[in-house]
Amino acid sequence: MFNPQHAVYVGSFDPLTLGHLDIIRRGARIFPELTVGIGINPEKSPLFSSTERLELIREVVADLDNVEVECFSGLAVDFVKQCQGGVMLRGVRTLSDIESEFTMTLANHTLEPEIETVFLMASEKYTHVSSSLIKQIAQIGREAAAGKLEQFVPHPVIAPLIAKYRKTDSSQ
Ligand code: ADP
Repeated sequence: MFNPQHAVYVGSFDPLTLGHLDIIRRGARIFPELTVGIGINPEKSPLFSSTERLELIREVVADLDNVEVECFSGLAVDFVKQCQGGVMLRGVRTLSDIESEFTMTLANHTLEPEIETVFLMASEKYTHVSSSLIKQIAQIGREAAAGKLEQFVPHPVIAPLIAKYRKTDSSQ
């Protein structure tokens, strides 16, 4: 029922970073099929709507023929099952990531023993990159941050990210 050649990479991707993209590209070289699952959590208010995230990620991975992008709500493990994927792909940056991923992996394995979690170590140049850091840079740096953001996010993310904080500003 579950296809071990099909991996599913879930996250919030609010927004997608070069660190996420690195995991997607590397995952797509290992697995014949890769689905990127954008988790929708009704308890959180993300900066980018699910549709915006979906469109941006689809644009960024358009050159990868074996990658699909979808949104989901509910448990990640249920989404992997729904895709009939046999692997949940995760990226780890730090020792503290490993600690929380360890707990989550055990829980997911209890919920669905046929789905294996596979970890890729973050590339050295992206270990410090996170969506929250990027939002801080864009919020504080505004337009002046555009050049700096190139080092952290794929190009199509830069203008929409800066526009978010411009909007927030004018509404205050
Ligand atoms: P969440 O909101 O669930 O933490 P994220 O969108 O931040 O999800 O991350 C999704 C996945 O990508 C997680 O496995 C996370 O560890 C991994 N990840 C996030 N940033 C990086 C990075 N810079 N390099 C490698 N993996 C990363």
